Amino acid sequence: MSETPLPNCSQCDIEEQERACRVPGGKGIKGCPTLLKKQVVAESRKEYQKKDVAAFALQASIQEAECFADRDKKPFVRKPVKPRIQEICEFAHRMGYRRLGLAFCSGLKREALLVDRVLRSQGFEIVSAICKAGCVPKEHIGIKDEQKIRIGEFEPMCNPVAQAKILNDAGTEFNVVLGLCVGHDSLFFKYADAPTTVLAAKDRVTGHNPLAPFYTLNSYYSRLLSGKE
Ligand code: SF4
Repeated sequence: MSETPLPNCSQCDIEEQERACRVPGGKGIKGCPTLLKKQVVAESRKEYQKKDVAAFALQASIQEAECFADRDKKPFVRKPVKPRIQEICEFAHRMGYRRLGLAFCSGLKREALLVDRVLRSQGFEIVSAICKAGCVPKEHIGIKDEQKIRIGEFEPMCNPVAQAKILNDAGTEFNVVLGLCVGHDSLFFKYADAPTTVLAAKDRVTGHNPLAPFYTLNSYYSRLLSGKE
């Protein structure tokens, strides 16, 4: 009995203008979810009929298009004109949000202040929480001394659950994540009541540009392809 292949868009080698997900009647590779997951897609379409999801999806897609210039010129040439922080501000305005949450990493404290300044100057009310909020010792989650960053010292844990609950308690309508660690960000998403977007993903080595290693994947970062870290 043949197993249904797992969805694998990341390995799709079909030209964009012929892809099943780009043109009706287009082609897909083995495992193409557009061709194989029609039931799942039909269920997802129903979700967009919910009033809140419909409004959110509509404004997000209007915002997406408005991040390009000269959309009426033919042939269309992509000309992106808005940095992500502007995209966030415009989207939040579109949605009528006033109170925004900012959940940030203590390693990006200076950047957090700048983000706070920009968001306030755009008319938002800001509620922010640093990752160390609550000063709960790492021992609380079973961290041993040798598992700390600074071995032998007191270390408060990153506490994304508290960050989320602090923002929830303040009734934030939309949250912005700035540089939370891998996994800590996942917990924040899980516990936050309001929808959340990411302004920057932390990457300590690349100046928060996690895609940087991919541009030298065949040379300086080839070790990542070796199956070892
Ligand atoms: S949906 Fe199908 S056609 Fe589109 S990228 Fe995925 S595999 Fe390729």
